[in-house]
Amino acid sequence: MAGVVVRTREDVERWLRETDPSRLAALFSEADRVRHAVVGDEIHLRGLIEISNICVRSCTYCGLRRQNSSLRRYRMKSEEILAAAASAAAAGCRTIVLQSGEDPGLRPDFVASTVFRLKSELDVAVTLSLGEQPCDVLRLWRDAGADRYLLKLETSDLALFASLHPGEPEVVWERRLHTLGVLRGLGYQVGSGSLLGVPGQTLASVARDLELFQMLDLDMIAFGPYVPHPDTPLAQQLRAEKSSGNRSIGENGPCDIEESEWLRQPLTGLIAVALSRLLCPEAHIPATTALRMLLGDDALRPFFCGADVLMPDFTPAQYAVLYRIYPGKDRMAMQGEGLLSDYLERLALQGRPVARDLGDRKRL
Ligand code: SAH
Repeated sequence: MAGVVVRTREDVERWLRETDPSRLAALFSEADRVRHAVVGDEIHLRGLIEISNICVRSCTYCGLRRQNSSLRRYRMKSEEILAAAASAAAAGCRTIVLQSGEDPGLRPDFVASTVFRLKSELDVAVTLSLGEQPCDVLRLWRDAGADRYLLKLETSDLALFASLHPGEPEVVWERRLHTLGVLRGLGYQVGSGSLLGVPGQTLASVARDLELFQMLDLDMIAFGPYVPHPDTPLAQQLRAEKSSGNRSIGENGPCDIEESEWLRQPLTGLIAVALSRLLCPEAHIPATTALRMLLGDDALRPFFCGADVLMPDFTPAQYAVLYRIYPGKDRMAMQGEGLLSDYLERLALQGRPVARDLGDRKRL
C-alpha cells in the first residue's frame, strides 16, 4: 500500500512515534492484509496453564520475583495440569502452553512426563515457557514431545536488560540469545518478544528489538505493554520519577520517561503488533493479555492489526489469582469461558474463525 514503508530501523522508529489517525489506519490495514495473505484468517487458541508461581529470579518488573514475600506460592500437581489442559482442549485449544516462574522445584523429569502425558492423552501441541534452562533439560523436554518454547528477551538494550535484572551476571542477555539458538537447534519452534514501556526504554531500542526478531526469524513474537506492579522496585522507581518531575538520571544516564510512557500506551502496542507482522510475516503473533487488558472494549483490535493468536487462561481459579505478574492479570484470567466464547463469536462474525489445526509455523 502506498505510504506504508517499513524497511529500515528508522522507518520502524518513525512508525512507533506516529500519531496521525489516517496514516495509522493505513499501517493497520496493510498489516491486516499481510496477515490474511500469509497466515490466513484463523485464530489460533493457545490454552495457558500457569503451573508454578515460584521464582528464583529478581526481575524488577515482575510480581513473581523472589523478593515479593506478600505472594503465596504454588506449584500445580500433574493431575491438576492434565485436568486444566483437558478443559482447554475441550474449549478448542489445539495448543497447551505451560508457563511458570523459574522454579527449581519443577523437576525436569516431572515436566518431561507431564509433556509426554499431554501429548499422548490429548491431541495437542505443547509450548513451554519455563524460563532459562540448560541445554540437556531443553533436550529432555523436546524428546518428551514439546513442540515450541517461548523465551522473551524483554529488550535488546543490554544496559536496560542488566538494570531490569540486578544481581545477575552480565552475560545473562547473551545467554538468553544463545538459548534461543539452542532451542532452534533442538527443533523447537521458537518464540520471543519484549516488554513495551519499561522505564528507560526508547523507541529506538524497540526498533532494534524488531530488527533482531526479524533476523532471528522467530516463529512467534509477542510484545506486551509493561504494567507496573506495586510490589516491585520498578513500579516504585516509576512513582518516584513521576513525583520528581518526569525525569531521572538512572544508571544508564538520563532516561526519557516520555518515550517509555508512550510505549506503554495501547495504541503503541497495536503499532508494535502491526510492525511485527510486516517485518515477520510468517510469525504467529498473539494479542497479549496485557495489551487486551489495556484496550478494554477494543480488546479485539489487535486481530485487525496483524495478530492471529489468542492465549486464554485455563489456570485453575485458586492459582490464577496467585500468578500475579502484574495487577489486573488475574481478573483477565478470571473472566472465564463465557467471555471466551463471546470473544470467539464476535471474531467469527468478523471473518476470523477458530483454527482447527495445531497452528505450527508454516513457511511459505
Ligand atoms: N519465567 C518465564 C515466564 C515469565 S512470565 C520467563 O522468564 O520466561 C511471562 C512474561 O510476563 C514475561 O516474559 C514478561 O514479559 C511478562 N511480564 C512480567 N512482568 C510484567 C509486567 N509487570 N507487565 C507486563 N508484563 C510482564
